This record gives sequence, structure tokens and C-alpha cells, in this order.
Amino acid sequence: MNGARSRLRTEVAIVGGGLVGCSTALHLARRRVPCVLLEAERCGAHASGVNYGGVRQQGRALAELPLAGRARRIWGRLERLVGGDGEFRATGHLRLARDEAEAAALEGWIREAARYGVHGELLSREALRARFPWLGEGFAAGSFSADDGQANPRLVAPLFARAARSEGATILEGRTVVAIERAPPGFVLRAEPELELEARVLVNAAGAWGTRIARLLGEELPSEPIAPNMLVSEPLPFRIEPNLGMAGPGIYLRQVPDGSVIFGGGRGTVDLERRRCRPSFATSLATIGEACRVVPELARASIIRTWAGIEGRTPDDLPIIGPSPRMAGLFHAFGFSGHGFMLAPAVGAVLAELILDGHSATSLAGLEPARFAPGSAAAA
Ligand SMILES: Cc1cc2nc3c(=O)[nH]c(=O)nc-3n(C[C@H](O)[C@H](O)[C@H](O)COP(=O)(O)OP(=O)(O)OC[C@H]3O[C@@H](n4cnc5c(N)ncnc54)[C@H](O)[C@@H]3O)c2cc1C
Repeated sequence: MNGARSRLRTEVAIVGGGLVGCSTALHLARRRVPCVLLEAERCGAHASGVNYGGVRQQGRALAELPLAGRARRIWGRLERLVGGDGEFRATGHLRLARDEAEAAALEGWIREAARYGVHGELLSREALRARFPWLGEGFAAGSFSADDGQANPRLVAPLFARAARSEGATILEGRTVVAIERAPPGFVLRAEPELELEARVLVNAAGAWGTRIARLLGEELPSEPIAPNMLVSEPLPFRIEPNLGMAGPGIYLRQVPDGSVIFGGGRGTVDLERRRCRPSFATSLATIGEACRVVPELARASIIRTWAGIEGRTPDDLPIIGPSPRMAGLFHAFGFSGHGFMLAPAVGAVLAELILDGHSATSLAGLEPARFAPGSAAAA
């Protein structure tokens, strides 16, 4: 590689300054491990900074619950960890069933999740109406998880980046990793503009670009880019306390204390090469229609902004987290499939344990990269 470039050496290199990369840098730095994070743009510029802001365990796949439980505990002490609460509030999360089949699915999930210590309360049609009078007609049942909530995504990744820096991590923004070579026992990364970084351990936290970073080292881990479509309304009187979602596919919606209603559903378009995405007008119209059926009062408000964000989605809708099945020193954490904002504070903690201790008490069963290794069931 080019000798004229500035050359750095560290213990752990992290590619990607979303919440996953920043959380990893923070947890490593707290254990006094030298690490350098390379971010192509600004920390939190992509999914981590523009997402919906939902912080929920309810409805998560069971394989994610050990990680989600740990993440929820970290969300509750964010102020102490990163010097700000990221506007996290435990407002509760309400999941709505449109028919009896969805109601049965809610009930089944509550039963299963209880084994992981996650509590949900099943609400009848009548209980829903009494407790949330602003809801539209036609919901067969709901489930309420009091422990869940919401936060402001604009704030959280920069808070983690700042805390990581103050603990001693090196965070370099505006550095795009363009090549990686295996240089046993570690790796050499080349980033633009002009940097070479030597590291013993490499963490791929490149979000929707994670598959591409893995491919630079000859590793095939599948994810496709998607662009969840988001909208925000002008302020309405504050009434909607919980974060809302559907039992099946559909919209998600929350109201922030200034009265604006943030909601999303469906997809926009994405160009991974140019690192850009766009909301879709047709998707936005359909989402507005559905949101007004869920909260009829929303029909009185104008929409003031629409946007989308770039996310990586895996074939089984579960993130890829853990050691590479074939290359010592390489760890992946990407493909969060719409769940990574909630999980990321714990993902960094678990990665730091795997890197430094070789194990973590938090189970990653069902999430590890090895499930996509050639010959395994998920790879077929
Ligand atoms: C619109 C939207 C709504 C969502 N809503 C929720 C929600 O309510 N709750 C929830 O839990 N999750 C939600 N998600 C998912 C969540 O935002 C993501 O799973 C999470 O932010 C992923 O974090 P990350 O750090 O892996 O990725 P990112 O935040 O995308 O960060 C990856 C970073 O890697 C950088 N990078 C990529 N390639 C390179 C390279 N070659 N060199 C250097 N840097 C590179 C990128 O610039 C980027 O900043 C949503 C996502 C979107 C898009």
C-alpha cells in the first residue's frame, strides 16, 4: 500500500460511525483498549441519526431478546454512560391487532417473551377504547409494554461518539475505507483521504454497507439496502403518550412533547453507491391514509417533512453480530433490519466482551455470522 499516506496503528479498527460503531468504540475505550473508528461522513449521518426513534422490546424476534433486554438496561442509564439521556422516555409501546389472528399472535408473543423476563399486557377491544380514547375504530385487541419507549435519534450517536472520544477512542470522520488487506496477525485498512490503519482486530459496523466491507475480505454475508419511509406532522395537542405499532405489517407512530407526530411505514428508494435515499410520494400517501385511520385526529394536521434512511436488511430479518466464521480477529455487526437503534447500546458492550474476553454473558444465538456460512441452513 502507498507509503506516502499517514499511517496509524491501533488495537481495534472500527469501520462505521453509526450507533453500533460508536457504542463499540465507547465500550472498548472504557476498558482502556486503543481503538480507531473510521466514518465516511459524520457519526450518526445515516440510519442511526435519521430513524424513527422507537426503543422497544415488544414484538422483537425471540433471538433478539437477550440483547434487547441488556440494551433496555443501558437506555435507562444513558445519562450516566454518555452524559445525556438522548431524550429517552419510557412511554410504553402499544401494539395493535386488526383481527383475531393478529390478536392471537400478540397473545402468543407475550407468553413466549415472559420466558425472557419481558412483560406485555394484553388489552381487549373495550380496554383499548377506554385507555386510549384517541385511537381509531376497528382494533380487535392490543398489547402494552410499559418498559418500552422512544428517543431522539439525532442526539444519540453523537453522544456516544463524544463519550467514546472522552474515554480515549480516536474517532475520525470524513474517512472512507476503500480497501482492507489481511496482514497476519491483523489487518491493514486504506481510507480516503490518505490514511492507512493497522489493527490487530477489525469491527465491521458499516450498516447497509456491511456486506461490501465483508466482501473486501472475501466474506459473503447477505444484506440488501432498504429505505424506510418517514413523515412528521405539524404539532397537535399532546395526547399520544405511547409509541405505537401494528401486530402485522403497517405503520408505526409516536408523538413528541412539542406535539409533532412522527410516523413511518413502507419504503422509499435507495442508491447505495451514492450513499443517498429518497422518500416515495406514493408510499407517503398510503402511510398518511393508514396513520389517519389509527389516530383520526391526525387528519387535522399538515405534514411538514418526509424523509428516508438507508438500512441493511438480512434474509431472515435478524442482524449479523459476532466473530467471522473464517477469519480470526474479524467481527461483524450490521444488517440490523430496522432494529438497530434500540439494540446498538448493547451491541457495543457485547462486541467489546467478545473481543477482549472471548465470550459474553449475553446470548447471540441465532444472530451470529456463522448462520450464513456455506452449507448452513440460513445460507441455503
Ligand atoms: C428510517 C429508519 C427508521 C428506523 N427506525 C428504527 C426504530 O424505530 N428503532 C430501531 O431500533 N431501529 C430503527 N431503524 C434501524 C436503525 O436505525 C439501524 O438498525 C441502526 O441505526 C444501524 O446502526 P449502524 O451503526 O449499524 O448503521 P448506520 O447508522 O447506518 O452507520 C453505519 C455507518 O457506516 C459508515 N460507513 C459505511 N461504509 C463505510 C466505509 N467504507 N468507510 C467508513 N465508513 C463507512 C456510514 O457512513 C454510516 O454512518 C430505522 C432505520 C431507518 C433507516
